[in-house]
Amino acid sequence: MLAGDGIGPEVTDAARRVLDAAGRAAGLSLEYVDDLVGGAAIDAHGTALRPQTLDLCRRSDAVLFGAVGGPRWDDAAPGSTARPGAAILGLRKGLRLYANLRPVRVDPAMAHLSAIKPERVSGVDLLVVRELTGGLYFSRPKRRYRTVRGEAAVDTMRYTTTEIERVAIRAFELARGRRHRLCSVDKANVLESSRLWREVVSSVAPRFPDVSLTHMLVDSFAMDLIRRPAAFDVVLTENLFGDILTDEASMLVGSLGMLPSASLGAGRRGLYEPIHGSAPDLAARGVANPIGAILSAALLLRFTLRSENAASSIERAVTAALVAGLRTADIAAAGEPVVGTETMTSAILDGLR
Ligand code: NAD
Repeated sequence: MLAGDGIGPEVTDAARRVLDAAGRAAGLSLEYVDDLVGGAAIDAHGTALRPQTLDLCRRSDAVLFGAVGGPRWDDAAPGSTARPGAAILGLRKGLRLYANLRPVRVDPAMAHLSAIKPERVSGVDLLVVRELTGGLYFSRPKRRYRTVRGEAAVDTMRYTTTEIERVAIRAFELARGRRHRLCSVDKANVLESSRLWREVVSSVAPRFPDVSLTHMLVDSFAMDLIRRPAAFDVVLTENLFGDILTDEASMLVGSLGMLPSASLGAGRRGLYEPIHGSAPDLAARGVANPIGAILSAALLLRFTLRSENAASSIERAVTAALVAGLRTADIAAAGEPVVGTETMTSAILDGLR
């Protein structure tokens, strides 16, 4: 359990209670170990992710992560281990998590919460698979330098066949367990790395004859994600495109606070976290929406513990709480009564029972 900073501890506490109840009902006995990460670890130990914390994660089946960061730690130098975000990158790298899964589902009863017209988002059920360890965020060269005309900076978008192939296989497998459609998103009309991406994804396709593969350019996909989001099933894309598109996709649901994620590597171990950050503006006020964290616990049950029944029982309990009209402030329409983190969590626990 790496709760982190800001609203991280509040939402992971909610997620742990729900995970525990759903796990117990499914006959699982779960053991939790807590550690500090991000700003909390910087304050206590001077670094965002201690080696022993990474070791603890390696010895665990799964990591439930809250969020890290806040204005107090913003001044540390870029690239320093005293920046909270260093913990996230260190965990992804240290645990070799290369596929980030972000499911986006809009229950018809919830469509009015969306930033997009309800008739467009009703029934949306898509899964974005984002490559997590390559591309612009990690590849070298990555630096600033002086030229005779002033400063310049470079980031590199580099991908290898192996990196593309392993995440593509994961996406095809996931499509196989869903509606058998996979859309790979790239910028192959301009980028060399995208041309390799498209070639490698296409070369994996014959191994999955039951999955229909399409390719789209990222700019037109960004448009179609708003225009016809219900048309997509599994969407596979590289790191930067995935980062941007999944925040866009969160608006289909209505709030960042609603969306879970899973980061997976080759085995069953995974890191599960809501997609939102530490929301320092909401911290310690008991008002944060716990649903993104709670749905992340459902993904933990699905992908690491392979307990589909327990996972879907949580998802049903979340839908039931929303259908019953419970709204945290981030998802309430004007005039609707608002509940806090605790009431929302209790309602979801009641739904499980
Ligand atoms: P944020 O996701 O924390 O907040 C964005 C907006 O969404 C805010 O208005 C916030 O109040 C709201 N929000 C977020 N989660 C919510 C929830 N569960 N319920 C209700 N409302 C919610 O992003 P930000 O403001 O850009 O960043 C704040 C801090 O979080 C920064 O230090 C940033 O670096 C960090 N951050 C961490 C992660 C992570 O740990 N994975 C991800 C993004 C940002």
